[in-house]
Amino acid sequence: MVSAPNGTDPGVRVRFCPSPTGNPHVGLVRTALFNWAFARHNKGTLVFRIEDTDAARDSEESYQQLLDSMRWLGLDWDEGPEIGGPHAPYRQSQRMELYQDVARKLINAGHAYFCYCSTEELDARREAARAAGKPSGYDGKCRALTPEEVAAFKAEERTPIVRFRMPDEPITFTDLVRGELTFTPENVPDYGIVRANGAPLYTLVNPVDDALMEITHVLRGEDLLSSTPRQIALYKALADIGVGNGTIPAFGHLPYVMGEGNKKLSKRDPQASLNLYRERGFLPEGLLNYLSLLGWSLAEDRDIFSMEEMVAAFDVADVNANPARFDLKKAEAINATHLRQLDVADFIAACEPWLKAPYAPWRPEAFDRAAFEEIAPHAQTRLTVLSDITDNVDFLFLDEPVRDEASWNKAMKEGSDALLRTAREKLADADWSSPESLKEAVLAAGEQHGLKLGKAQAPVRVAVTGRTVGLPLFESLQVLGKDRTFTRIDAALARLTA
Ligand code: GLU
Ligand code: ZN
Repeated sequence: MVSAPNGTDPGVRVRFCPSPTGNPHVGLVRTALFNWAFARHNKGTLVFRIEDTDAARDSEESYQQLLDSMRWLGLDWDEGPEIGGPHAPYRQSQRMELYQDVARKLINAGHAYFCYCSTEELDARREAARAAGKPSGYDGKCRALTPEEVAAFKAEERTPIVRFRMPDEPITFTDLVRGELTFTPENVPDYGIVRANGAPLYTLVNPVDDALMEITHVLRGEDLLSSTPRQIALYKALADIGVGNGTIPAFGHLPYVMGEGNKKLSKRDPQASLNLYRERGFLPEGLLNYLSLLGWSLAEDRDIFSMEEMVAAFDVADVNANPARFDLKKAEAINATHLRQLDVADFIAACEPWLKAPYAPWRPEAFDRAAFEEIAPHAQTRLTVLSDITDNVDFLFLDEPVRDEASWNKAMKEGSDALLRTAREKLADADWSSPESLKEAVLAAGEQHGLKLGKAQAPVRVAVTGRTVGLPLFESLQVLGKDRTFTRIDAALARLTA
């Protein structure tokens, strides 16, 4: 027997089972994260399964992206693609024969039947039921066809779908997030499990694999809540025909994530794309920290934590059923805090991708690592996302500073040329090993022209860096060096007096 340390249950088996369609989105990542944290907390097993039974929508590219995203996020799995496991294969497209076999067994045992109704017939009956104020789901017409009726349909060359026979009693289960829920038969009609062309549907393959892979807990989005009573009924039928070990998993439905304007965040929302966060330079731990707050919290007033802390504390029972709001500003603030918490060396390493093409605008050979390492600690406390590093340090590596006209017009006023000339004189006598001394020089130049430090340093900053905002000016000047600082002040003076 495996003994369970401090209330954990190593028998826990959860799954993350995305369909490889399109780009991974934050809602999907939240689902993966909660399953991962639950598995790790319990010292259980995370199964990663690919639900690629829809050849028309699934793509290999999307499959690769899913794997790459999970790896980038650090959400490791115990069974699944590239690892294998006792229930391999973990791509449903490689398990088709198995589903066909299960469908046959369900039909033979009377849990499923062929339905010959055409879409037009189904639509017409649904409309009629609606008009009569009756439940408008499938009416069970093909539940008990006579051999003559079947022969007649076959003669018309109709190809049937396979429909699962729902029990005629209500289905009750205790949702781990929402408590006890009951679904009445009128609301859960018989449903299709195999298409007319023989292709098994999500409604079949998902519970079949959960049963075969001995999944104990299903944590997934609230949008799938309506399929849970169907799946529970199918589970019971699977147990009856000897597929799986007969235990029905516990279900927990994670709250909706709301985007702009109180609408559900859709996967087509640009804000929802995981790749966007990667490209902007979110740290995986920053993004995951934020996404964990979409329906869960470590403790009141505790927004910042590590994944180790989340794993130690995570319990589905603490997930909140209320919709969660996706707040980009908060995500950025949390990421910024994680950036600040890095060791400088790790911060420098994390910046690496943005210090070269296609992000960096400078010539590769103009990059000076020593200068970057000197300025990096000042950037670390100011960045929200890593991609901001490029704009913040480009003044060091471009031959000439960027030319941002809005900044120029804002900083360069009547008298700026005189100020710049004085600043240049004072800076010439300053101690360039001390940012404090450089500041004294600009302060003194400002005083001579009746300007406070803020007003006096703006033209210097724009002359040297091209922008009105950036890293601390005097540290920047020091790293840039006296010669290049003066060349740039001279160029600005030339432009001002032209
Ligand atoms: N492949 C399904 C989806 O991505 C999985 C749903 C589930 O977790 O049951 O929506
Ligand atoms: Zn029918």
